[in-house]
Amino acid sequence: MYKQVFKLHAQLLRALANPKRLEIMQLLRSGSLRVGDMSRMLGLEQANLSQHLMVLRQLRVVATERKGKEIYYRLAHKNFIKAADMMRQILFERLGGKATQAERMVSVVTDPVCGMHVTPASAAASLTQGSKTYYFCGTGCKKDFSNLNK
Ligand SMILES: [Zn+2]
Repeated sequence: MYKQVFKLHAQLLRALANPKRLEIMQLLRSGSLRVGDMSRMLGLEQANLSQHLMVLRQLRVVATERKGKEIYYRLAHKNFIKAADMMRQILFERLGGKATQAERMVSVVTDPVCGMHVTPASAAASLTQGSKTYYFCGTGCKKDFSNLNK
């Protein structure tokens, strides 16, 4: 049993060891989303996204639920976000950003493209224009924002 858990843990981390899949986890932190929404937010082809979702689903990182005709993806356990936040906290500290840790974790901002609520710590991407910094749920929204503001 003891060794079995290390094997399962390693298997889970292998499934998560991909920047896009980590980004998908961040997207799902505040609720469930349809594949189409995620595809746009991430700037990722649906076929490609579906492959990532399949891996995450196999390891039960994400689960699906049907609402009417639509399939929604959500995190299978809230602790996946806790675990990711703890790892990210280490990275943020190493990167030594200007904002304090508390500010990054607590303050909530709105993604100007899709309206999703994100914290600067959880945001997948940011963009500073003049004195204002915008935060985005995913790199797809950042790209859309950059294109709109050219
Ligand atoms: Zn967004």
